[in-house]
Amino acid sequence: MTVADLLDRPLGVLRLSLTARCNLACPYCLPDGQEPSGLLSMEQRLQVAKAAVALGAKSLRLTGGEPLLYKELDELIGALQPLRREGLQEIALTSNGMLLSAERAQQLREAGLDRLTLSLDGTTGTSVAAMAGLADPAAGERALKQVLRAIEHARQAGFDPAQGALKLNAVIQRNRNAEQVLPLAQLCRQQGLELRLIEYMDVGNRNGWRRAEVVPAAEMVRTIGEQWPLEPLGRAGSSTANRWRYRDGRGCVAMVASVSEPFCGDCNRLRVTADGIAYTCLFAAPGSGVDLKPSLAAGRDQGDLEAALDQLWRQRADRYSEDRSRSATPPGAHAEMAYLGG
Ligand code: SAM
Ligand code: SF4
Repeated sequence: MTVADLLDRPLGVLRLSLTARCNLACPYCLPDGQEPSGLLSMEQRLQVAKAAVALGAKSLRLTGGEPLLYKELDELIGALQPLRREGLQEIALTSNGMLLSAERAQQLREAGLDRLTLSLDGTTGTSVAAMAGLADPAAGERALKQVLRAIEHARQAGFDPAQGALKLNAVIQRNRNAEQVLPLAQLCRQQGLELRLIEYMDVGNRNGWRRAEVVPAAEMVRTIGEQWPLEPLGRAGSSTANRWRYRDGRGCVAMVASVSEPFCGDCNRLRVTADGIAYTCLFAAPGSGVDLKPSLAAGRDQGDLEAALDQLWRQRADRYSEDRSRSATPPGAHAEMAYLGG
């Protein structure tokens, strides 16, 4: 059974945030320094995933904060495997790659992780430091080298970019790293990776978001297309990314244009925070989520949790990004992205 919301959008993806903490402090994200109280246990996370799958979710993305900081990650991925028999089709993870050693990549693969997206916002020490909140270009250079090693470790462990199992995310922000669009595209072409360029979004309140700092996807496509001609592939239903193919056959590049071309119309994503609060929109107001902990308490039935999620999804009518585009009124407060799960 797949539950649909008031705008007839079926549930398809669960984004599970495993921690609100991070080992970086990207200024466009600015995660919390500590965990919220009432963190879910691994068993409770499994219950949440099971309930989402029962309601139609086919894809699970583990995120944060930095999910590699979560100690029971491999165990959780292993324990999620039986859900494949109940309709789960893929388990993916988004990470900044700072803790991805060869051994860690191998363990994730062996535990049953299907796809890995690493994040890197520049190809120089200066740009990486500016985007990752690091002290100086030397620290940026070290982080850059580590992510390049992480890409190699992931590839060696069997996350094959040609099968879409390894991709690179990059946030682009005007006056910070906009000049990195071409170098990042070049790096990914050389590495055989699909690059996903993400428009700087107004998630959270700490980043002091201004629309003037958004580099629209159309501009990034133009920049890359002038260097390496592109052919549009479009956006697959419910996906966040509009994809383009390099005409010379050197792979694809994707744009996540949540600000300039919102895709709320077919959004199928449910988010559950590390402390068990369910949200249906990345741009939700803090405190507006539904606390699943009462339904997860000892002695409660799995059916209670399913009913809570079912009710939440059926009542869903949010489409913040589209409203933002239509409305002249300034947006209200947003929950932070690292807390909600990016
Ligand atoms: N720490 C992991 C990482 O950085 O990949 C996972 C969590 S992070 C919140 C997930 C993704 O959200 C990253 O690719 C990050 O670049 C992106 N992100 C965070 N804040 C953003 C913002 N304000 N606008 C656009 N993308 C953002
Ligand atoms: Fe950490 Fe990811 Fe947020 Fe950067 S984007 S601060 S790596 S959670």
